[in-house]
Amino acid sequence: MATQPAGIPDLIPHFIDGERVASVDGDTFGVLNPVTNEDYTVAASGKQADIDLAVAAATRAFHEGPWPRMKNRERARILSRIADIVESRDQELAQFESWDSGLPITQARGQAQRAAENFRFFADLIVAGRDDTYKVPGTQVNYVNRKPKGVAGLITPWNTPFMLESWKLGPALASGCTVVLKPAEFTPLSASLWAGIFEEAELPRGVFNLVNGFGETAGDALVKHPDVPLISFTGESSTGKLIFGNSAPHLKALSMELGGKSPAVVFADADLDAAIDSTLFGVFSLNGERCTAGSRILVERSIYEEFLERYAERAKNIVVGDPADPKTEVGALVHPEHFDKVMSYVEIGKGEGRLLAGGGRPEGFPEGNYVAPTVFADVAPDARIFQEEIFGPVVAITPFDSDEEALELANNTKYGLAAYIWTNNLKRAHLFSQNVEAGMVWLNSHNVRDLRSPFGGVKASGLGHEGGYRSLDFYSDQQAVHITLGDVHTTRFGASAH
Ligand code: NAD
Repeated sequence: MATQPAGIPDLIPHFIDGERVASVDGDTFGVLNPVTNEDYTVAASGKQADIDLAVAAATRAFHEGPWPRMKNRERARILSRIADIVESRDQELAQFESWDSGLPITQARGQAQRAAENFRFFADLIVAGRDDTYKVPGTQVNYVNRKPKGVAGLITPWNTPFMLESWKLGPALASGCTVVLKPAEFTPLSASLWAGIFEEAELPRGVFNLVNGFGETAGDALVKHPDVPLISFTGESSTGKLIFGNSAPHLKALSMELGGKSPAVVFADADLDAAIDSTLFGVFSLNGERCTAGSRILVERSIYEEFLERYAERAKNIVVGDPADPKTEVGALVHPEHFDKVMSYVEIGKGEGRLLAGGGRPEGFPEGNYVAPTVFADVAPDARIFQEEIFGPVVAITPFDSDEEALELANNTKYGLAAYIWTNNLKRAHLFSQNVEAGMVWLNSHNVRDLRSPFGGVKASGLGHEGGYRSLDFYSDQQAVHITLGDVHTTRFGASAH
């Protein structure tokens, strides 16, 4: 079994105004390893008082510090330094992430690369950025004065935690905001690396603040804090609704990246080998704990049985094991609470579909949060395993007979995050892609990201789109400044003779 990586602190502290600090009330919570389910350290448990201190520091840094006022090139230099440092810590980060979240080590590697790229990309974007000017010849010039919105509240989930934190930190900092990050309570370890990374990159004091703790306490206090004008949230749709309501009295700007139940649609004319590789990876990579997982596979009837046979055989061969073992393809789920949730869906699925692979704990793993890759076929659209996000290594497969039926099935959930379409018919490919209710479509493609393109979901999967300039827009105000050239012509109130 894996040994604990070196360098894990006895207490994972908050980071407020450049200092590593315990909670004001001294409270902590246990942080467990998902292979043993034993606590290996504790983290400071933040409450209102800690959030108040963090927001005060971020507010000071915003109003009095250099960060929002720096030239874009200067900010970009620091962001690029952050990217270099993040990249250089790939090994350490992968070990921390795998240890804390149960992610297979080979899949945890490369997360630092992606995180670094999020800083490098937004550094480039602000240097190359431009804003609009509108001329009314001889009369007026109007221009956009872009400025950072203020203290950004960033709330993140436990799946690929470090990378998802970088997806918010990169554009928030690039825009000139100062931030308070509240990472997920299941996985606070990798977030503790940020403090050292930002110190080394010489990010000014107070620009980055981090408060650990539970959603109901630390997260809630951040959402309700009057001095935090915007919240960027990634997590479950139900939490998103709660945060939406709690932000309403303050009319906060919200960006929400929420849950998914994304369809992968395989037509008979598809490259079946590629579709099978991709649909397996799409739901079983990252332990199935992936927002864009293709967790419903819709297959055209004429290839349905062949697809099932080949898919199930591969699923049975997936290597489940210790997250630290480089041979492992599916590791341990993040937490026993989440394990219980996923297992309850496995049991529900047994009454809703035909079990082709998995269906419980894998053999030889009596302990730890291990779930065998599980495949259900013949799943009806009203089944719970078709409709509800499981967020684990469980897939529902359903046949279809026509393009219309495929589209109806694809759109038949409350979610709309991603869709994967496999066909070699050009017209069908584009028509289907354009009509499917999903924020992002991958056509004959595996889930690859282009940081310039929109990222986000529709329906219950999100609110707003980030990605490229859209992210900078979210963290900025675009003030319109209007200037008259020449004479001012105003209707003269109060100037008429009595
Ligand atoms: P979650 O909603 O339980 O928690 C997310 C974060 O919100 C955590 O930091 C939590 O402490 C905090 N939180 C919880 N209650 C809160 C409250 N009342 N006020 C403020 N903050 C609160 O989600 P999770 O279980 O950590 O993550 C899994 C979910 O995230 C899945 O639904 C997944 O699809 C979604 N997700 C979406 C995307 C995307 O880009 N759309 C990406 C990754 C994960």
